[in-house]
Amino acid sequence: RGRVAHFRTELLEDAETTDAVRARHRMERRLRLAIESRSLSLHYQPVVTLPSGGVTGVEALARWEDDELGRVAPDQFIPLAERTGLVVDLGRWVLQTACREAAGWPAGPSGLLPTVAVNVSPVQLAQRGFIDDVTRALEDSGLAPDRLCLEITETAAITDLTATAARLAQVRDLGVRLALDDFGAGHSALTLLRALPVHLVKIDRSFIERVASDTADAVLVRLVIEAAHSLGRRVCAEGVETAEQAQQLASMGCDSAQGWLFGRPEPASPRLAARLTSRSPAEPLATDAVLPL
Ligand code: C2E
Ligand code: MG
Ligand code: MG
Ligand code: MG
Repeated sequence: RGRVAHFRTELLEDAETTDAVRARHRMERRLRLAIESRSLSLHYQPVVTLPSGGVTGVEALARWEDDELGRVAPDQFIPLAERTGLVVDLGRWVLQTACREAAGWPAGPSGLLPTVAVNVSPVQLAQRGFIDDVTRALEDSGLAPDRLCLEITETAAITDLTATAARLAQVRDLGVRLALDDFGAGHSALTLLRALPVHLVKIDRSFIERVASDTADAVLVRLVIEAAHSLGRRVCAEGVETAEQAQQLASMGCDSAQGWLFGRPEPASPRLAARLTSRSPAEPLATDAVLPL
């Protein structure tokens, strides 16, 4: 009887696996269609300087709302796109769209134009045509190269540090800015900061979560900020949700921040454009996000 029960369990597991495989194939089919029919969209999240809280730019984040599957989160469809190679077409579309939309945004009172950050998958970065894709996106949109920042996750860098560094140097030579995304999320080594020619280090949300409450996390964040600054890199904190976190980060010398405290990702709109141009980067926020220093 035990054996029979065991056998039946195995059959059930097989059925489940088949279902999972079918669901994955379906999602892959739908994603391919979404990319081809240009039915993905971009949301933009404000990036602010610390301690002022002035908006200096945005990060573009891909969104997918499917007719059949409903809303699918990037943490689901980006890995799928990477596994299937679809991320190359998806990424090219994101790059083109973000550059085109950002090129239309007017300057703030300071005369400074907002920047736009675009996430780049390791698969995309390693691709032969990547430099051409970036060049074309800049040319087609007319966006100045220093208004574009490409974000690369640290895991991408670790697989082949030398190749990644060489490729990033090519991108940097276009005049484009570079950021190391999700720093601290993986097995990050501080040597990455030295080896990779990035302008900016983005500290992962998992560290920022407890930066105001956990001493160990605060120590690590402070160390990363100091190390990055010593090596001539700027630092951005990801996932800032409370005024306490922002205050703590500002007191540690963190240069910029992103998070729900300052704004959630939202579609490009006159409202967002108004936010981008409403204050100069040096002007303090007149809300509860004010950071007394
Ligand atoms: P990421 O590049 O690290 O983007 C930040 C993520 O944190 C976004 O999630 C954003 O919505 C979320 N976030 C921002 N502020 C807060 C906060 O205060 N609290 C919390 N809890 N979350 C916050 P999202 O949009 O779901 O994207 C997830 C990841 O998917 C991104 O992480 C990025 O790695 C990837 N991704 C998104 N769009 C693209 C894309 O166009 N291309 C590629 N290659 N990857 C993308
Ligand atoms: Mg990012
Ligand atoms: Mg990140
Ligand atoms: Mg991420």
